This record gives sequence, C-alpha cells and structure tokens, in this order.
Amino acid sequence: MAIIILMVASSTQAQTKVIAHRGAWKTQNLPENSLASLNHASEIGCYGSEFDVHLTKDDILVVNHDKDFYGIDIEHATYQELLTKKHPNGESIPTLEEYLKEGKKHKKTRLILEIKTSIISKERTLQTTEMCVDAVKKLKLQKQVDYICFDYDAGKLVHKLDPKADVAYLNGDVDPAKAKADGYTGLDYHFSVFKKNPTWIEEAHHIGLTINAWTVDDAAEMANLIQQKIEFLTTNEPEKAFEVIKAEKSKK
Ligand code: MG
Repeated sequence: MAIIILMVASSTQAQTKVIAHRGAWKTQNLPENSLASLNHASEIGCYGSEFDVHLTKDDILVVNHDKDFYGIDIEHATYQELLTKKHPNGESIPTLEEYLKEGKKHKKTRLILEIKTSIISKERTLQTTEMCVDAVKKLKLQKQVDYICFDYDAGKLVHKLDPKADVAYLNGDVDPAKAKADGYTGLDYHFSVFKKNPTWIEEAHHIGLTINAWTVDDAAEMANLIQQKIEFLTTNEPEKAFEVIKAEKSKK
C-alpha cells in the first residue's frame, strides 16, 4: 500500500518547467533578447522567456543583455542614439513597452523580467525597478510577468510595489529563510550555488519558495536538477531541456 501511495505522489509532482534564457535564439541564430527570440521561445513551447532591462540616460527602459548595444553604452546613451544600431535581423533595440506588448500576444508564455543593476547608482537601479513595475501594471500584465534581479533591494522594492508579484533573487548569496522574510517568492541561483549549499533546495521548498537555476546547458546538470524537483530551469538550449525532461519522466 505504501508503495502505491508513493508512486501516486511522485507521478503528481509538478515537472520542471523550461525558461529560455534571453529568449530562444541559439538554434535559429536569432539575436538574444530580440522580439524574434521571444516569439521563438513561445513557438517551441517554453514555459517562460527571460529578458534583461536597462534604463537609458533619458529614462527609457530597453531590453538587452550587455551594458552596451553594439558598442553604445546604454546607461550613458539616449534612446535615439541606440536607434542608430540594429540587430543583425534588422530589429532595433526593443523598448520594454514594445517587448511586453509582443509578449502579451503569447498568453501562455511567462515573461521573466530581469531588472539590471545600474552601473551608475543604487538610485538608478531602484528607479529602473519602479519604472518596470509601472510598465507591467500599465499594460495589465501583472499575472504574466515574473521578476528576477541581482540587486537585493530591487527585489524588495518589487514586493513592496506589487505584493502579489513573483520575484526571485539571482545573486546566490542569501539563504532561503532570509529571502522569504524579505518578500522574495523564489531563489534563481547559478546551479553551482545549489551544489555548494546542498540543503537549500529542500529548505526553500519547505517554506514555499520556488527554485530556478541558471544557466543550465549541460544535459547531466539538467537531469541532476530535475531529479531535485526544481520548478524552473533557465537555459540557452530549451530544446535540449525538453528532451532531458522527457527522458527523466520515462525513467519513472
Ligand atoms: Mg538575464
């Protein structure tokens, strides 16, 4: 009897969901963080698509990973200056508003918004945070957007501005209990952090925090994390993650 109950419990366990890191770009050679990579993440059935948000000198939120867009330093440039460069596929740097509007077309794809830490000041990071939450509210996307950030205070501010929002901390230096106490709903750490702190996944789950791990591109690492029942896996190779999840499922 005990065995049957255990089998039922394990088969109803939610499976790990795949988040495309900077969109799904690798197999199609699309620019990272482009609208095309967001659309492709949705097309191939990713649970979510992650992207990075910076604030320009003239206070426009834009989506890009690096601090520069093809050589132009984003925080020290105006939006108009950034428009002088284009991605190889012809897209301009997306504003956050353009990106969210595109995401809104894909209701089943969660939008994982990373608030980038300002290189100028803490105030600028918090301004970016406030403007991101405002932009999401303005487009009524609160239920489709989750936040992630390296700046601990940025996540605390997200929680204050939108207490129902899911927000996960990225920097790997805070234990589950503290993150929970400060309003975080999840930990999104580099996968090596969970190896160094092998009790954290269980501790986090016990107090109701979700676990995401970045950036997991190796099949063996993916399998290891899936076996630990983490909620989300952030990867540059979502197609590979789907295969590993399928293989792990068939083992049961
Ligand atoms: Mg990111």
